[in-house]
Amino acid sequence: MFLSRMFGRKPAAETAEATVPTGAPTGAPVSGPVDVAAPLAGRLIDIGEVPDPVFAGRVLGDGIAIDPDGAVLHAPFDGRVTGLHEGRHAINLRAANGTEVLIHIGIDTVGLHGHGFHLHVAEGAQVGRGAPLVTFEPDVIRPKARSMVVLMIVTNGESWSLRDLREPGPVGIGEICCRLAPVDEATDASPLSASLPMTVPATRAPAETAIVRRIAEIRDPFGLHARPAGVVADHAKKSPVPITVSLGGRQADARSAVSLMVLGAHCGDLLTIEAQGQDGAAAVDAIVAFLGTPTAAGEDRPAAEEHQAAPVAVNASPLPFGEPVSLRGVTAAPGQAVGHTLRLVREDLAFAATAADPAAETAALEQALVATRARIAALIAELGDEGERGRHGGKQAEILGAHLSFLDDPFLKAAADRLIASGKSAPFAWKAAVDEQITALRGLGNRVLAERATDLEDIQRRVLLQLLGRTEERLRLGDRTVLIADDLLPSQFAELELDRVAGICLAASGPTSHVAILAASRGIPAVVAIGPDALRVQDGQAVIIDAGKADVWINPPSDSITSVERAITVRRARLAEARAAAGADCRTTDGVRIEVVANLGSLADAGRAMANGAEGCGLLRSEFLFLDRTEAPDEDEQYREYQAITTALEGRPTIIRTLDAGADKDVPYIHLPADENPALGLRGIRTSLWQPEILRTQVRAILRVEPFGTCRILLPMIATLADFRTVKTVIEAERIALGRETPIEVGVMVEVPSAALTAKRFAREVDFFSVGTNDLTQYALAMDRCNPRLAQQLDPFHPAVLRLIADAAEGAATHGRWIGVCGNLASYPIAAPLLIGLGVTELSAGPEAIPEIKAAVRKLIMPDCIAVAKAALDLDDGEAVRSLLATHWPEL
Ligand code: PEP
Ligand code: MG
Repeated sequence: MFLSRMFGRKPAAETAEATVPTGAPTGAPVSGPVDVAAPLAGRLIDIGEVPDPVFAGRVLGDGIAIDPDGAVLHAPFDGRVTGLHEGRHAINLRAANGTEVLIHIGIDTVGLHGHGFHLHVAEGAQVGRGAPLVTFEPDVIRPKARSMVVLMIVTNGESWSLRDLREPGPVGIGEICCRLAPVDEATDASPLSASLPMTVPATRAPAETAIVRRIAEIRDPFGLHARPAGVVADHAKKSPVPITVSLGGRQADARSAVSLMVLGAHCGDLLTIEAQGQDGAAAVDAIVAFLGTPTAAGEDRPAAEEHQAAPVAVNASPLPFGEPVSLRGVTAAPGQAVGHTLRLVREDLAFAATAADPAAETAALEQALVATRARIAALIAELGDEGERGRHGGKQAEILGAHLSFLDDPFLKAAADRLIASGKSAPFAWKAAVDEQITALRGLGNRVLAERATDLEDIQRRVLLQLLGRTEERLRLGDRTVLIADDLLPSQFAELELDRVAGICLAASGPTSHVAILAASRGIPAVVAIGPDALRVQDGQAVIIDAGKADVWINPPSDSITSVERAITVRRARLAEARAAAGADCRTTDGVRIEVVANLGSLADAGRAMANGAEGCGLLRSEFLFLDRTEAPDEDEQYREYQAITTALEGRPTIIRTLDAGADKDVPYIHLPADENPALGLRGIRTSLWQPEILRTQVRAILRVEPFGTCRILLPMIATLADFRTVKTVIEAERIALGRETPIEVGVMVEVPSAALTAKRFAREVDFFSVGTNDLTQYALAMDRCNPRLAQQLDPFHPAVLRLIADAAEGAATHGRWIGVCGNLASYPIAAPLLIGLGVTELSAGPEAIPEIKAAVRKLIMPDCIAVAKAALDLDDGEAVRSLLATHWPEL
């Protein structure tokens, strides 16, 4: 009775709260304003104060926020339930006048997976104002949520807006707090904010349309950033029906890479991908398959650090010319450099804000977009096909590909068109449309996405230059230039005479920005996130960069310049010498033979490995054959690939790892069951045993490779002898069936502490061991290798990891088995004495690292390695181990 009175409606019965929920709404459909009642009691607060940048920044739309006193959420108006989030914390309602609202209970409540929320309604239900929708348990939710605030957001803000918003303060349940009215009635709507719904309304197909809905977990350690968003948008554009991607009550049109990024999805987040009909199933599957594929984390990305890529305001006062100044930032690409400073100041582009002829402006924008697209496509073509690109060209092509998808983004174009229609010039409209999204990305509080704002700035500038009929002037650089800038756009980087660039120092940006990736791929030392002082440095001053330590020294003493120059020369000469000697065998000074082999992930890698002197392949990550497709490769296809790689290695030993699917390497078509902790669930060999036919097919393909005996089989994620024995039985059965007379060598990866600790037991039955330090570190330190927040601490030099390697080596030796290391640790020259001292006799590294690893091994004496490795086991942490090594082998 009380509730019905508060909501001003006649109760259907005295027990209205329990029985009204799905009753028909009162009144006929309305096209005018609708009053919105407070869905619960509490305190109305300004939405800008909500502790979440997406809501506070109105990225999803305008709305109201209530800090709740109650625990039952009621319908704020008559309407239909158009969407229920599976986490039960968010609900979409459509009012009779067509307004769509998203009601969201609490911040960061998606992670509760519905725990503490009880629904009273089903999707599609008609509800009357005041009907209870959800009961929630504050005691369960509060400890896990960032805030309990309840938000009501208008998601089709392009047509409907909030009017007569009540002042912040206490509000009773059912009291009117605002009205929802058509936008053209609103007096103060900004054309831009009204025109840019970066998330689409929760549109639902009519009941008779079969919705295709899948869940995908993001595997990219850096979340749904620009490049994956671009790929998803490309898939969605191929679908004949609309596809939406939702996360935590937010929804994006999958055709829009920008709106996908604004979802702010992180590694491990579950996205719901939906197509409005069966015709979209193929595209949805392609998206799900793609999202489940990790990027090559760890090997080619700089370590993540918590640094924002926000642009830095220029402080006009220059630092005195000639005065020594030291600056510190974050390593983006390691290495040392000496040179002279040159500041790169991006010229502001001037244009009129308004224009008289909207049709001409729209045509001009379209033409500029076409021309920019053609220019980028030409740049990609100049980089050659995939085979020719090599490492750095590949990165650049990927980044340019992401830029192409921004240019095709329907939301950016639609937003600019609307501004043009309201009398703005094409340059103004395009700039404003892109600026809005740059602000949204920077406001998400996500470092990686904030860095992607630079990519938007890049296409913004390219299109503006086209519109203004201008071309970016090519900078004339002196030899050994150290560029100083606020940030560097990828397109600016592409235009530089790179052989004259000694180093890069940026006030803003971050270690995972595209410019950081490009600099690292070109071997140009770069320090980023230095802060505003970088921009006060004058041109033409001497500078030293020690990017590995993130140090920049302006006007250093001349003897420092001399000593760094000497160090650079020595290092270059050493590298050249190492490359020249890369083909030779490798022994320590006292004659102990160490095999240096390569980690491969493709046939192209095999070529690089040979060029760098690899003595074989210590780890072929066979996942390369299984990712980015919709079904597993058959036996023949696998056989052809393995044979081609073995042939390319000219008879050198080739260790093929069986499929390592699961956790950080998702192969969607295997349909692994959703595990609470994928890294501790079905992965590696456990997945193969769960789907033995995939294992059998792969084993047969490997057994067919000629000459027999060149290939060995390596099993990932072995934790128990029982698992090993089961797989060994499968391998033996296939060998006998194929008529191979002698057994193939089978080894296990030491990636799990149990395998290291019981290596002695394994050693009786396995042929060899290979330590996967990437996973061994993850499991020894209980730190998720996908979690960028832990990247700095995920240290393979940690004595706990080293002790496990020592145990494994000792166990292997008991039965005369050899042990190698194929994790990233083997790619660091400084780790060579440590691993060899622990008893490792094979180092499997990235192809490019091989010459330096071989050179390092040739400098070592076994007794020194053993003594230092033993001492390292007793140190406190990885840092202490590294300094011990640096003291003994400063030249490595
Ligand atoms: C490892 O874990 O160290 C390893 C080599 O395997 P991956 O990195 O492919 O998991
Ligand atoms: Mg591994």
